[in-house]
Amino acid sequence: MENLEQKAVNIDWGKLPFGYLKTDYNVRCYYRDGKWGELEVSSSEYISVHMAATGLHYGQQSFEGLKAFRGKDGKIRLFRWQENAKRMQDSAKGILMAEVPTNIFRDAVIKAIRLNEKFIPPYGSGASLYIRPLLYGSGAQVGVKPADEYLFIVFVTPVGPYFKQGFKPVDMLITPEFDRAAPLGTGSIKVGGNYAASLIAMKKAHDQGFANVVFLDAKEKKYIDECGPANFFAIKGNKYITPKSTSILPSITNKCLEEIAKSLGMTIERRSVALEELSEFEEVGACGTAAVISPIKKIVDDQSGRVYEYCKDGNPGPISTKFYNLLLGIQNGDLEDKFGWTEVV
Ligand SMILES: *Cc1c(COP(=O)(O)O)cnc(C)c1O
Repeated sequence: MENLEQKAVNIDWGKLPFGYLKTDYNVRCYYRDGKWGELEVSSSEYISVHMAATGLHYGQQSFEGLKAFRGKDGKIRLFRWQENAKRMQDSAKGILMAEVPTNIFRDAVIKAIRLNEKFIPPYGSGASLYIRPLLYGSGAQVGVKPADEYLFIVFVTPVGPYFKQGFKPVDMLITPEFDRAAPLGTGSIKVGGNYAASLIAMKKAHDQGFANVVFLDAKEKKYIDECGPANFFAIKGNKYITPKSTSILPSITNKCLEEIAKSLGMTIERRSVALEELSEFEEVGACGTAAVISPIKKIVDDQSGRVYEYCKDGNPGPISTKFYNLLLGIQNGDLEDKFGWTEVV
């Protein structure tokens, strides 16, 4: 294999954006003739793609996003990778791709982390190593049918916080004229097509100064679905409330927050959340791996003109803040992981 020495890198960790930064290696695995091959290590950022690959034409593609953190003790903790492996298998099932076996997923992720160890941001920098597994139909088809060859790739990149301003409340826009996913479509799996469908709504929100979009349910436009590429949650009294819908992507961060809420004695409600309820919530937020929690200050309904406001003092709510600190503390190893979410790699 290539020279794997780990020379120090010259990165200003505190100024790292949430974006792509080249690292040394990525890990690949090909599915051909009905079976997965051996893991391969590549130092190229490029892949050679057949021009008739189904991943390009028919959207046979899915991805994952997870993080690894360096602790005060120097150890590297990988967060809930089993959940991502399972979700990628669900995505593969949903669009008839070959499923990546759990052991291949794990080995590829750990190999990619270890080979790029010098890119794992130091403890206390606020940055982490973002891991991006990708699966797509690499086999050629012209008729609409699933490919018979697939490529699974894992690359990593060090990332700073998702929002430059840090853990601060943001504004969201409800744009009922756009849907992200159909009720019985692909909203519940992590495929690129859902993202393509959401770009136009997100652009509109960004252009108007909003951090992101709150999508409503596509059928009745009465219920909250998702916050762009993140799940929605609300706090009301002692209740943690999050929408239940067939077009929501099951967020692992949301699952963590539910478990944290439960451990703090709160009641969990996963149910349809009507738009009007927005005026009754004490705290609302978006959650996902990238930003962990984005507390919401204001939601503007583009159609009705209604405005819902939270965080009146400009700061994130007390419960959102508590959740954020607990989850981050477990991820970077500062707090005891009584949930068993992290694995030292
Ligand atoms: C990935 C994703 C999320 C967040 O999921 P996490 O597992 O918490 O990172 C939420 N919504 C959509 C649409 C997503 O693609």
